[in-house]
Amino acid sequence: YVVAEALYKSYGQVEVLTGVDLEVNAGEVVCIIGPSGSGKSTFLRCVNHLEQVNGGRLQVGGEYVGYRQNGRKLHELSPRETARRREDIGMVFQQFNLFPHMTVLQNIIEAPVRVRRIPRHEAVATARDLLAKVGLADREDAYPRQLSGGQAQRIAIARALAMKPKLMLFDEPTSALDPELVGEVLAVMKQLALDGMTMIVVTHELGFAREVADKVVFMDGGVIVESGKPHQVLGNPQTERCRSFLEKVL
Ligand code: ATP
Ligand code: MG
Repeated sequence: YVVAEALYKSYGQVEVLTGVDLEVNAGEVVCIIGPSGSGKSTFLRCVNHLEQVNGGRLQVGGEYVGYRQNGRKLHELSPRETARRREDIGMVFQQFNLFPHMTVLQNIIEAPVRVRRIPRHEAVATARDLLAKVGLADREDAYPRQLSGGQAQRIAIARALAMKPKLMLFDEPTSALDPELVGEVLAVMKQLALDGMTMIVVTHELGFAREVADKVVFMDGGVIVESGKPHQVLGNPQTERCRSFLEKVL
C-alpha cells in the first residue's frame, strides 16, 4: 500500500531522509523505531503529503507522491488533489490535537460532516460506534480538558477512524502519556490491527512492536538500517547501531 524507493528529503542543507526503501502492504502493521532525529516523523509526513519529497519515489495506495531524482515531476498535484488523498489517511500524534472548544462527539463528526459531506445523523451513528470501540461510549458530551491523556488519545484515534481511512499513521502515540495510561491506547491500536487496518506506527513500545507488527524497521541517520520480522530486528539485530539503540530503550 505504501512503497518508498530511495526516498530523499532535505530541509535546505539538512539531509533528513537519505534513501529510504520501505514497503507496507495492505493490512500490514509496520513499526518504525530509531533514535531522535533519525527521520521517523519526516517519513510519516512525506507519506501524509505534508512534505515535498526531493528525490526517489513514494507511492501511497498505488498513486505516486513526489518526484524522480532528476527533479522531473511524475505527477503534478493540485492542492485540491492533495487534500483528497489526505482524506484517506488518518494520523495520530503524540499531542492529541483535539479541538478544545468542541465536545468529544463534535470532534469526531467534524471532518466527516464538513469534508466528506456525510449527513449529520449518519456521522453521529458512526461516531457512537467508534466511541464504543475505543471504550468511551459514555463520554460523548465531555470536553477534551475533562479527559485523561489516555482517553484523549483514544478519542483522537476514533476521530481519525471516522474518516474511514485506508491507512493509519501513528507518531509516538503513547510517549506523552503517563505509564499507566499507555496500555489502554495500545489495546485500541492492537484491535485496529486485528481488524486489518494498514498501519505505520512510530513507537518505542517494543512489546507492542513484538506482538503486533508484521515488520519492524530500525531507522538511523535518514535510512533504514534494519528491517524484518519483530523477532529478527528486536531479538537478533544484525548491526551494532540497532543493538546499542535497543539496549538504551529497554
Ligand atoms: P524524534 O524521535 O525526536 O521524534 P524523528 O526521528 O522523528 O525524531 P524528525 O522529526 O523526522 O526525527 O527529524 C529529523 C531531522 O530533521 C532532525 O534533525 C530535525 O531537526 C530535522 N527537521 C525536521 N523538521 C524540520 C524542518 N521543518 N526544518 C528543518 N529541519 C527539520
Ligand atoms: Mg518524531
